[in-house]
Amino acid sequence: MAEFSPTADHAEIRDGVARVCAGFPGSYWRDLDARRAYPTDFVNALIAAGWLGAMIPEAYGGSGLTLTAAAVILEEIHRQGCNAAACHAQMYTMGTVLRHGSAEQKQRYLPGIADGSLRLQAFGVTEPTSGTDTLSLKTTARREGDEWVINGQKIWTSRAEHSDLMVLLARTTPREQAARRTEGLSVFLVDMRGKIGNGIDIRPIRTMMNHATTEVFFDNLRIPADALVGEEGKGFRYILSGMNSERILIAAECIGDAKWFLKKGADYARERVVFGAPIGRNQGVQFPLARAQAHMMAAEAIVYRAAALYDAGHNPGVEANTAKMLAADASWEAAEACVQTHGGFGFAEEYDVERKFREARLYQVAPISTNLILCYIAEQVLGLPKSYGAGV
Ligand SMILES: Cc1cc2nc3c(=O)[nH]c(=O)nc-3n(C[C@H](O)[C@H](O)[C@H](O)COP(=O)(O)OP(=O)(O)OC[C@H]3O[C@@H](n4cnc5c(N)ncnc54)[C@H](O)[C@@H]3O)c2cc1C
Repeated sequence: MAEFSPTADHAEIRDGVARVCAGFPGSYWRDLDARRAYPTDFVNALIAAGWLGAMIPEAYGGSGLTLTAAAVILEEIHRQGCNAAACHAQMYTMGTVLRHGSAEQKQRYLPGIADGSLRLQAFGVTEPTSGTDTLSLKTTARREGDEWVINGQKIWTSRAEHSDLMVLLARTTPREQAARRTEGLSVFLVDMRGKIGNGIDIRPIRTMMNHATTEVFFDNLRIPADALVGEEGKGFRYILSGMNSERILIAAECIGDAKWFLKKGADYARERVVFGAPIGRNQGVQFPLARAQAHMMAAEAIVYRAAALYDAGHNPGVEANTAKMLAADASWEAAEACVQTHGGFGFAEEYDVERKFREARLYQVAPISTNLILCYIAEQVLGLPKSYGAGV
């Protein structure tokens, strides 16, 4: 029986991505993980094959593919045991420039991002004191003649050390003077080349998995006036407009992880013989895997439904958030079942399971934590009172 897949018509993409991933087996990722090193060769291979320029329109040198196709690319990378977290921003962070940038900014940056000669891997929103409460962020941008002067600090700015450009959200009007609660923040496309040690200081944060994340400090960083993206003061709206696609793409990565864990777990359960029989014959071993498989399939259906709605021009906030939460839960459930199925070997580095387990845990928290998605569903779908933010 042919395998049902909501993206069966993307078989060519899957095959192409799988061919790239075949050059980067578990031993490659284990070595990087031990050294907390960046997968430069893997990222370059994806760029060379054109996969990271998938969502950039053909007019700017990309392939102009749909969000569904982009989701398939990222899902497949994870299904093959690789990790797109090192480079997924190169695929979608440019959306802010594409949707809100000037014609001049698009022409100047998008072709380089499409061919990989310009790296747009960094997205600076989260700050240490404000956390999820983005409107409380404290980094400021002050206009001085033909320049903006940036001061403040970001945290969890992933891949900043491996990026030429950063999409930065900063306050340009003090909160109490902004016309509306959601106004007064602006988006900048910061060219970091030549600015490290000259207004920008990047400090790596060592995390439980290999993620190349950092703290970034801005000390009177001067950037040209035309680094502003779109209209001054509208930055929060611009960042929000990219959230749905980001959530759908990260959810697709979680689906890929879940499929990797389920295959790895089922393969091991068939092969491992204890008490004279494969452990997979025991329902106590089968059921957690089967339950995780069922939940993965349900989440997968929502992920690709959200992607299809997005591609059809809708604004699927509820579906995108639901997809992110269910897919992250599905990958975490599959990760847990996979470790348990492997018994002691689930903890041994050479099986890759413990590494993927650490990697999968992130998606309960980033890019948006499960609680905040539940807040959103409670408010937007169930009509319950808003439980956070101003006015509560
Ligand atoms: C490895 C990693 C990479 C990241 N990469 C980036 C990046 O590239 N760029 C970037 O800008 N950010 C990045 N982030 C930040 C990430 O988006 C945030 O960590 C996440 O949004 C949560 O914010 P916080 O850590 O400040 O938690 P907080 O906002 O402090 O929340 C802490 C906990 O409290 C809960 N909570 C908070 N408020 C409520 C509420 N009202 N109701 C119920 N629960 C609540 C949250 O769910 C969470 O579990 C990254 C984070 C990590 C760990």
